Parts: sequence; structure tokens; C-alpha cells
Amino acid sequence: SPVILWLRRDLRLSDHPALDAACSSGRPVIPVFILDEVTEAIGAAPKWRLGLGIGHLAKRLEDKGSRLILRRGKARDVLRDLIEDTGAGAVYWSRLYDPDSMARDKWIKQALNDDGIEAKSFRGHLLFEPWEVETGTGGFYKVFTPMWKNVRERSVPEPLRAPAKIPAPSKWPKSDELEGWALGAAMNRGAHVMRAHIRLGEEAAMDRLDYFIDAKVADYADQRDFPARDGTSTLSEPLTYGEISPARCWHAALRAEHGGDAAGAVTFRKELVWREFAYHLMYHTPRLTTGNWREDWDAFPWTTDERRAEVRAWKEGRTGIPIVDAGMRELQVTGRMHNRVRMIVASYLTKHLMCHWKIGQDWFADQLVDWDPASNALGWQWVAGSGPDAAPYFRVFNPLTQAEKFDPKARYRNAWIAEGQADPPDTALAYFDAIPRRWARAASDAYPDPVVTHEAGRKAALNAYENREF
Ligand code: FAD
Repeated sequence: SPVILWLRRDLRLSDHPALDAACSSGRPVIPVFILDEVTEAIGAAPKWRLGLGIGHLAKRLEDKGSRLILRRGKARDVLRDLIEDTGAGAVYWSRLYDPDSMARDKWIKQALNDDGIEAKSFRGHLLFEPWEVETGTGGFYKVFTPMWKNVRERSVPEPLRAPAKIPAPSKWPKSDELEGWALGAAMNRGAHVMRAHIRLGEEAAMDRLDYFIDAKVADYADQRDFPARDGTSTLSEPLTYGEISPARCWHAALRAEHGGDAAGAVTFRKELVWREFAYHLMYHTPRLTTGNWREDWDAFPWTTDERRAEVRAWKEGRTGIPIVDAGMRELQVTGRMHNRVRMIVASYLTKHLMCHWKIGQDWFADQLVDWDPASNALGWQWVAGSGPDAAPYFRVFNPLTQAEKFDPKARYRNAWIAEGQADPPDTALAYFDAIPRRWARAASDAYPDPVVTHEAGRKAALNAYENREF
């Protein structure tokens, strides 16, 4: 009887333990993607990007003599129907670790087992399973550096090859059309602008990894903080959709380390472990994504009113603080933002504007094509000061000195802000094509004055911190 391969955030063919096990079972394999309520709930840009990834994978599966079956509905019902339609005796999938997916998967595993169907979950989204990494006293890590020390020398399984062929069933079950799902429907901005910045699929991700390791990783430790330079891997997007596995990135870095590019490659592995750190924390404390990880922060007087003019200005990239606006515009045009600038815009929102970090978390979840539930939550809580191993709240980033230090020649700011430039580059002009119609702006509009200056924002934030009731 066939094996149903339930694909979710593992849109690749190589280093895919669940696919590998399904193919090795000698049984026909039926790959399926289910648009269920957990997937329906994701933000506009990641959902649109997911649609691109699904379409790409479907073609690759066809090259291997297989197909991707698309079904919409509650995962349990869809799987039950598919089992009935195909006589499948097993369902395999790669594990996910966010609270909603875990609750769903646990329940489905039980229900399938009760029906006498083999339900099996596999590794693949992480380097180390959350239950495999423990502190000396048996808990999970709440501080990054000791976790890094624990795992840095651990062995990670070598990436598996893609199966040469995927055994097909004699008859395929029916499938929805991807277009009918309209996964891009919630994108109220120029998807066509963003499309030009998307590197789609497993082959593109592997090419980028090769290029990064050959040309960039040696200088990664020195270059990774400068947003105008192409100094980072930009692999967060394919990692999010599972178009590349973290194990493949890890092994590529290890090879570079042994080849002599040690400092940069070690730093790159360390960043991959930040992703693990975020996932392990989310697994052990699911509230990481929903509320202050340090609960004493519940008493802090954040603003939660999204309709405030300053919040709108922040979202639109019109705060009048150029490094902040450049980041928010990069996000509109590309669906991504450089890590250094994510920290700066997050600090400006949570400190200078005194807004709850959840406003920023939600905006990023809606706008980032590399949206990841764990890294996004940890990133926001880290900057806001409410998270594990967080920067102290009173350390308020000065966006002006940050810009001088990390964008000394204003190349990044000029790349994204057209106003005031006689001959703005295409990237900066693309913003006006990309933004939602209701923001309607023109490159000739005047650049705004700061909605809140650094001095005033810093003072208000520190004042609130000093008078807090915890
Ligand atoms: P590289 O510098 O090449 O790093 C390699 C990989 O390591 C990344 O692809 C990523 O998987 C991982 N990584 C690097 N930095 C971090 C980090 N700080 N935390 C966790 N993993 C990391 N990352 C996301 O993938 N999705 C998000 O939704 C997300 N939201 C963020 C929100 C805020 C407020 C902040 C401060 C950071 C956020 N990050 C997020 C982390 C980080 O900014 C991105 O992972 C990084 O910019 C991706 O670029 P890159 O692939 O070129 O990274």
C-alpha cells in the first residue's frame, strides 16, 4: 500500500529523511501538500512565497516521475480521504516545532494510529532535535553561548542524496489546482516587484550556498554587519520553506573550516545555531511567540495601539530616521531585511516609539518572505528586552551612530531612499511601485522630519524603564 508523504516546510528532494524513508520502503509514494487552517493563518508575504515554492517543487517532482497532490481542508479529514482514495497504509512527515503545528501533528498521529495507519515523523528542519540538547542539569538552554559550546563539535548527519526516482502509485488521487488556492491574494502590494528578488527552489538555494562558501564565507565575520554589502548567505528564506536543510549549510561550513576559512565559517555555523536556539526555546516555552518570555515585562507600559501615526510611519518607511526607513523600504521591495537593520528598526519601534514588540512581530510575520515563527519571536523579544538572553532594555540603539558605523558612506540608505537624490537608483524607486495603493507616495514628495528624534525617544524609553513597576 502507498505511503503518503505529507509535505509542509520541507519543499526539497535532497537531504529529506521522510522522503528518503518513503522511497526506501519500496512502496509507491504520494506527496501531498495540505492547505489547512494552520497554513491558511500565515501572513500575506510568506503565504505568497509558499505558493511559489509549492509550484516549483511540483515541477521537480514531475521530473522524478511523481506528482504533488494539493488538497484543502482540515489535515485530519484530508488525510483520511486520501487514505480512503488510495489505500495508503502510512503517512510520513518532517517535524515542525511551532505550537500550532505541534498540537495538530500530535493529534493526527494519534488519530492515524487509532485507525491502524502507520504515522511517522522525521527530522530535517533542525540540526538538533530540541530534546537532544540539554544543560548539565538537564534543562534547556536559556542563554545562547553555553548552547553553542555544547553543540559546536557535535556531529550532524551528512546530507542525504535526492532519490533517483520516486515510486509512483498506479493511479493518482485527484488534486486541486495551485492557482485556485490564490495564495497571493492577501498581498496588497506589488508582488511583481518582490518576485524579482526571490531566489526560488532547492537548486537556487544550493547554488547560493556554494557561492557564499566560495566567495563570501571567509570574510563573513567582518562583513555580516554591513547592510550595503552582499556579505551574508541570504539563506533564511529557503531555510524557512525547507528548500535547503540546515544540515547541508552546516556541512558546507565545516568543509570551508577545514579548508582554512575558519573564522568566517565558524561564525556562520554559530548563526545557524541561533536559529536552533530560537527553535529549542519555542519548543520548550511556546509562549515565546505569544507573550513576554520574561513575564515581569507584562507590567511595562508598551503602547499596543497600531493605529498611531508613528506606527504607520514606521510601517511605511517614513519615520524620518533614514536607516530605519531604508530597512522598512527594503522590506517592502524585497520581502527581506538585513539583520543589523532588523535590530535597528525593532529597537526604534519598541524603544523610541514605545510600542509593544508584538506589533513589530506581527508586521514582520505579514511582510517577510523569510518569516520564521521562532527566529522572528526571538529577534523581537531580544531587541525589546523581554526575551531570553536579551539585550538589556536600557541599551537603546542610537540609529544615527548605528548608521554611521555600519553604513558609513550611506550606500544602504541611498539604495532605498529616493527622496533628496537627484538620480535615485532603481531599488529606491521600486519602493513606490511596491507599496500598497493606500500609501500612495511619489519619489518627489519631501522626506519627512523625524516622528520621534533619537534624543526624545531615548529619554522617554529610559524614563518608562526607570519608573517600571517590576
Ligand atoms: P546569515 O547571516 O547568512 O545567517 C545564516 C543563517 O543563520 C540565517 O539564514 C538564519 O537561518 C540563521 N540566523 C542568522 N541570524 C539569526 C538570528 N539572529 N536568529 C535566528 N537565526 C539566525 N530570521 C528569520 O529567518 N526569520 C525571521 O522571521 C526573522 N525575524 C527577525 C526579526 C528581528 C526583529 C530580528 C532582529 C531578527 C530576525 N531574524 C529572522 C534573524 C535574522 O535577521 C535573519 O535570520 C537574517 O537576517 C537572515 O539573513 P541571512 O540568511 O543572510 O543570514
